Amino acid sequence: MSERVYLDYNATAPLRPEARAAVMAALSLCGNPSSVHADGRSARRLLEDARGKVARLLGAEAAAVVFTGSASEANNLALRGTSAAEVLVSEIEHDSVLQAVPGAKRLPVLGDGTLDLAALAKALEGREAPFLVSVMWANNETGVVQPIAEVGDRVRAAGGLFHCDAVQAAGKLPIDMTELAVDMLTLSAHKMGGPAGVGALVLRPGLDLRPLLRGGGQERGRRAGTENLAGIAGFGAVAESHEDLLGRFNEVAKLRDALEERLLAEDAGVTIYGKKAARLGNCCCFGTSGLKAETMVMALDLAGIAVSAGSACSSGKVGPSHVLRAMGVPEEEAAGAIRVSLGPASISQDLERFLEAWLAVCRRRQVA
Ligand code: PLP
Repeated sequence: MSERVYLDYNATAPLRPEARAAVMAALSLCGNPSSVHADGRSARRLLEDARGKVARLLGAEAAAVVFTGSASEANNLALRGTSAAEVLVSEIEHDSVLQAVPGAKRLPVLGDGTLDLAALAKALEGREAPFLVSVMWANNETGVVQPIAEVGDRVRAAGGLFHCDAVQAAGKLPIDMTELAVDMLTLSAHKMGGPAGVGALVLRPGLDLRPLLRGGGQERGRRAGTENLAGIAGFGAVAESHEDLLGRFNEVAKLRDALEERLLAEDAGVTIYGKKAARLGNCCCFGTSGLKAETMVMALDLAGIAVSAGSACSSGKVGPSHVLRAMGVPEEEAAGAIRVSLGPASISQDLERFLEAWLAVCRRRQVA
């Protein structure tokens, strides 16, 4: 039996060796970072060291980083922790943004998956502060990258707060918070090769935030609860190696482009979603005419290859994709979309194995 091929990095990335080492080292420490004794102070040093590393990833101040239990929690904190009376979110956000404020106004996207800037301008016209706009940096299903700098400028000019979910962009694209009109930015460790169960909300200096979790002064009173020191140490370790991650992404993009060329060259009725827009170099969301995503994901799994259905939600069920729907893709067609997402360890042989298995499913479809 040949080794499994992992092509689902947008769901989670394998733990990187430096993260594993940092987690293991932190697990062998005993001390609560809030304790004043020497053991507590050692734990505190580790915590603050990791905070500095995560801050440097974004060009932010260490004090701006609030560690959370996930990016989903960070998104909830951002959307519910400010004094904004109104919230506007793009239609293609992760569920943790869409469901944090159920009554939020939805901003549409164009057919290529990018935010409709004309609709944003209209929504901002005459709007009274305080309000908050949340638009993700890059979409988890399609990889489409949003015009974040422009969105931030427009929101700030209109007097609003701007939150950006940068979970899929971190480690794949350079991020410098000092160059953006962004007030809050969300990260997740496990999408970058760190451990799961750690996220961060990074704040513009001076921004005031109400905690969601109360009952402790941790994280400068912005998130109660003893910090997940081992997870945070692992997060710090991957943040520190982000330049290495970024460097490898050019190679990853070449592999993805070669894969797409091969998919399109086959006479299989392939549609690649978001292809006309700027996209993350690691992601390909596509449908094959006449094939359901579940069938494809299961057949690939049996062949030892891990990918996601374009519309798989956190419960593992496949439902209609709100992202593809927002892009105007008919529901029946969207039900065929699968997401192949590569990472720094992906190699061309992985894609050969993928193509071989995909072609085998396509051939069976022709016979049926
Ligand atoms: N935001 C985006 C864009 C994501 O892709 C995900 C995870 O899929 C999340 C937020 C949630 O991340 P976490 O698993 O850390 O809660």
